[in-house]
Amino acid sequence: MGAVLFDVAPDAARSIGVMATMFLLAVGIVTWAALRLIAKRFSHHDFAGITSLAIWAHSFIEGALAALSFKVNPELGVIVSIGLLLHLLPEFFAVVAILKQHGLTTKQAVWVDVVTVGILATSLAIFRFAFPAASSAGLSISATVIGGAFLYIGSVVAYRFARNLQTATGLASGLALTFAWSIVMLRVFHL
Ligand SMILES: [Zn+2]
Repeated sequence: MGAVLFDVAPDAARSIGVMATMFLLAVGIVTWAALRLIAKRFSHHDFAGITSLAIWAHSFIEGALAALSFKVNPELGVIVSIGLLLHLLPEFFAVVAILKQHGLTTKQAVWVDVVTVGILATSLAIFRFAFPAASSAGLSISATVIGGAFLYIGSVVAYRFARNLQTATGLASGLALTFAWSIVMLRVFHL
């Protein structure tokens, strides 16, 4: 949520305008709330399912972003890629904590994260070599919609926070690390 509110949203507002950003965030929230309703009909792991989906979508965007930064200049590409690699660790703990809280086993949660890393790598390769012409505006738009998804997921998680102290602690430290990292990226590298 921190990353969405302090990083993704301001970035998007700068490139596509405040109204468009709010609209896209709302699209993300509504889409994921709807996905959850659909998922609920098919499985009792509905929340874990839509969370995985949002996490996968976000790594897809991250891969595309890294590819785009290589296009701006190779040095920036390397810096962004190193940043992405480093953030995978705190993200791993956050992902596993959230998914376990929503009924997955540790093994299942770890698999979701393995797929996450695979998607990141694939998307980087796709945008670097197959679609080198992808625009930053398109990325900004999709990142904002995914941002809305995370706002929705974040609020549901926050709502359930008080239930389990141990999971909450794991979740909080994972999110804090991810958040600290996005601030570092924002301030130091102006991403
Ligand atoms: Zn990430």
